[in-house]
Amino acid sequence: MYQDTHRYIIDAILKEEFDPFDHEYVSSNTLEDVMDDCILSINVKGNKKLKHPYFSLPAGYSCPFAQQCLSKADKHGEEIGDTGKKIQDHGQFRCYAASQEVQYKNLRKQRWQNFDLLQGNSSDEMAEIINNSLDYHLPHGTKVFRIHESGDFFNQDYFDAWVKVAKTHPETIFYAYTKSLNYWINRLDQIPANLILNASKGGRNDDLIDKYGLKYVEVVYSPEEAAQKQLRIDIDDSLAWQQTEPFAQLLHGGQAAGSEEGKASRKNRDIMAKVKKTRGMNENSLREMIREILSEDINIPINVGDEILGGKFKNKKITVKEIGENDKGDITINGKPLMRFRIPTKD
Ligand code: SF4
Repeated sequence: MYQDTHRYIIDAILKEEFDPFDHEYVSSNTLEDVMDDCILSINVKGNKKLKHPYFSLPAGYSCPFAQQCLSKADKHGEEIGDTGKKIQDHGQFRCYAASQEVQYKNLRKQRWQNFDLLQGNSSDEMAEIINNSLDYHLPHGTKVFRIHESGDFFNQDYFDAWVKVAKTHPETIFYAYTKSLNYWINRLDQIPANLILNASKGGRNDDLIDKYGLKYVEVVYSPEEAAQKQLRIDIDDSLAWQQTEPFAQLLHGGQAAGSEEGKASRKNRDIMAKVKKTRGMNENSLREMIREILSEDINIPINVGDEILGGKFKNKKITVKEIGENDKGDITINGKPLMRFRIPTKD
């Protein structure tokens, strides 16, 4: 696995192919601690993966258009019927947020408390509840807020409530992933600039994505699949709120035992850990990592006699006459470091 991951990174560097991890890694603002006692539960500090505040609803139950990802954990943490399980999968892969609800009792309760408080209210009433909660919880000047780390827009009134909330807080960027695309389409001309929506593929309304040219996010099984679809892979949610291009998310989270999805998810977890580590490296560390990888006997696909590209712009054809190693331990080609060359792409 370790070698596979690094082989992918090295291949991407050498071939200068489309690299789905080739984008800025930017975190949002720093947040202060505040009291946690309000109508709606809002996570103010973010979490290990998400660096800005967010709001959540129960996975599955609040997602009327979920399909591939649809999973539901029991509201009370009990076994569902006589299945022997506390979670039920209705789609192709398991929703990570639903798995969390099985594992973390308080988190599940908070999400349900939010859902129960909002349902049955008008759009104006929900907007007021949300606005009051945000005003109470959030430090002044919060720049980025994620609507739904879990859950979705469960009806049109609730969607409209968030449109109103975003308009009330123009200083904050609100962003969301959603499969409730029809609610979005119904209000296309009313979405304020600080409400950024990402159509999450794999729902029951996917046809609306192409029809209306919506920015979308797609779950992929591997970086290779993302590269093939020319989609950048999101690492820290920044592609969801900082740019307008479609992007990919690597399949992650607990999946059914023995499934293809489970294997892909485990592999992706290691890949993401390695990529995050790589992104924080300076040039020397990166060089050190590559040296370490090379010493693991990974074969670079270059042989004496091959034609590769070099020169200032790496566009000049050069014949490989000698492959060696310099005093720093770097691999060299014709006496120059390997990183000064690239392998031409095949037509
Ligand atoms: S829409 Fe999101 S929260 Fe809802 S089931 Fe799918 S992945 Fe889970």
